[in-house]
Amino acid sequence: AKEQGRDGYCFFENSMNANAQEQLHLLQDLRYALERNELRLHYQPKLIAPAGPVIGVEALLRWQHPERGLLSPDQFLPQAEKTGLIVPIGNWVLDEACAQMQRWRAAGHTSWNIAVNLSASQFAHAKLIDSVRTALQRHGLKAHNLTLEITESIAMRDANSSLAVLEQLAAMGVGISIDDFGTGYSSLLYLKRLPANELKIDRGFVNELDQGGDDAAIVSAIIALGRTLGLKIVAEGVETPEQQKHLTRLGCNLLQGYLLGRPMPAEQLIECYGKTPA
Ligand code: C2E
Ligand code: CA
Ligand code: CA
Ligand code: CA
Repeated sequence: AKEQGRDGYCFFENSMNANAQEQLHLLQDLRYALERNELRLHYQPKLIAPAGPVIGVEALLRWQHPERGLLSPDQFLPQAEKTGLIVPIGNWVLDEACAQMQRWRAAGHTSWNIAVNLSASQFAHAKLIDSVRTALQRHGLKAHNLTLEITESIAMRDANSSLAVLEQLAAMGVGISIDDFGTGYSSLLYLKRLPANELKIDRGFVNELDQGGDDAAIVSAIIALGRTLGLKIVAEGVETPEQQKHLTRLGCNLLQGYLLGRPMPAEQLIECYGKTPA
């Protein structure tokens, strides 16, 4: 231990692989990203099938790193999740998304809904409900202006306590969307008990929709299931006109994906979709 004390740093640097070192540096930077104002939200539209209008917008986190450029969540969220940094970051996301939604409302987009993703530890955090309420109040939004997206696997983990949190949020009037649906193992019984109003078909199924495998059958089954439960159904990751047509034919209500609109900064979104409704 003593030797390590003297030469520890050197030893550490040499033996860690480059990737682990990079992760460590990134994590150190991430601690300051919030106060240095380096986090950004991009927004991706959800449109009524087949081609609009926009009914909602999903906020997706980005990190404008001073040296590495614009980073996507996969590059830093797992670390943030492990260290608990996700909680203050998640609160920033909620607040910023609500602030932006209020600006859009002021510009006439009063029917748009803003969707925010929640991670496992945010969802497990005791103050989640308070944070949601605070963000809504601070920006003068109604609960129904906001949707929280929670992956099927997070909602399933510790099903009973998840259910209690979701029920409180739903009772407030916040929309609940089950993200990445089809990748977890929800029992029908549990799904039926979830106070969700939206289900998002995982990109993986949409991707292979036209390749003649089982995916078309799975997607139809998910749509049928969602309809039976009275849920809105969003297909994510729509990239081709064929997928767009196919999903519309299968009865999917809402579409999201690069074909219809990439995630983009707020100013750009308003340029593309912002014609004030008549
Ligand atoms: P997600 O919630 O499933 O979001 C959809 C992801 O698919 C986004 O990746 C989006 O940019 C990407 N995407 C959208 N359309 C297409 C398409 O047509 N093709 C392809 N290939 N991809 C498409 P992104 O922005 O990198 O986010 C990745 C994940 O990070 C999200 O997956 C979500 O789980 C998480 N995430 C993003 N923002 C936040 C946040 O603010 N908080 C938390 N807790 N998680 C977030
Ligand atoms: Ca999502
Ligand atoms: Ca998803
Ligand atoms: Ca995903």
